[in-house]
Amino acid sequence: MAKNQIDIDSPLDPNEAKEAILGYCLKKGALAAGVADLDAIERIAPAGHRPSDLMPRVKSVISLGVGGQTQGAWTVPAKALTFFGSTEGRAYSIAYGLAFMVERAYLARSVYCPPDIDPELGSRVPLQSIKLHAELAGIGARSLAGDILLHPEYGYMYFASVFTELELPPDAPMTENPCPATSCAQMYKQIGKTPCMKFCPVQCLDGSIDDAGNQTEMNYEMAACAEMTQQYETLASVLAGAMNAGTPEERSAMLHRPENKTLWYKMSVGSGGLLAQCFECMRVCPIATKAPLADPIRRAQADLEKGGA
Ligand code: SF4
Ligand code: SF4
Repeated sequence: MAKNQIDIDSPLDPNEAKEAILGYCLKKGALAAGVADLDAIERIAPAGHRPSDLMPRVKSVISLGVGGQTQGAWTVPAKALTFFGSTEGRAYSIAYGLAFMVERAYLARSVYCPPDIDPELGSRVPLQSIKLHAELAGIGARSLAGDILLHPEYGYMYFASVFTELELPPDAPMTENPCPATSCAQMYKQIGKTPCMKFCPVQCLDGSIDDAGNQTEMNYEMAACAEMTQQYETLASVLAGAMNAGTPEERSAMLHRPENKTLWYKMSVGSGGLLAQCFECMRVCPIATKAPLADPIRRAQADLEKGGA
């Protein structure tokens, strides 16, 4: 038998394969990883956005999450956080490598799930819901902050997924949601808002919490949030404004006023800040900022307490 060829007399143990695959994710820097129930995704995701719509023979969806900001990032003002707030690129590179690892180790076709928008449907519709994959894989639960996934240990993470034709046993979604935190439920009782609702600069979050401190409703005005967080959408308006300007001075002002010049700058340096530059709901979120392993300092302290590195 050639090297790397699967021995059909000794079929793979799916549990061992899963352990090796999730172990790879953690070794490469993910904080959490799991396998989502493919049948559940296929049932919940809308037609055209199911894993099988991209990969007809998909058998498993692997989801992984990397840590969000450093602790220091939360100390800088919003105008600075706009440039370096996110770490999703790290999640994507781990997932990219994972697809290669699974093909090489298990000879099963695998692909890094594109986290991008559906080119036929515009900038608000993703090809796949990476969030749904992560939620069903049990590595995050939907929060009152526009359904951003939160984890009781790691706070908020950035997620990436891999599709594979290798059949792996699925994990279950988390049974308890860390959102709202106790302090958020108390604030809600007093003022009818949680910190994320109160401090969202465009007031696009709303919801309710019952007497037991559980979410009963979450409302999120996506368009208002997108105006703050997805600057690529403003590029067309800036260009239209410049083209329709009545005078050269107005045109120049449209193209060169400081906030619009910043867009050209971000484009020229390839800044991810064009994609998401508002973190105010997470800045005030006790789970995102104070979960036991939410940032590198907390993780290092936990390691020290355990007598580790
Ligand atoms: S990212 Fe900004 S605009 Fe969007 S919900 Fe959070 S605080 Fe509001
Ligand atoms: S601040 Fe965080 S924990 Fe509190 S309600 Fe909002 S998302 Fe949930």
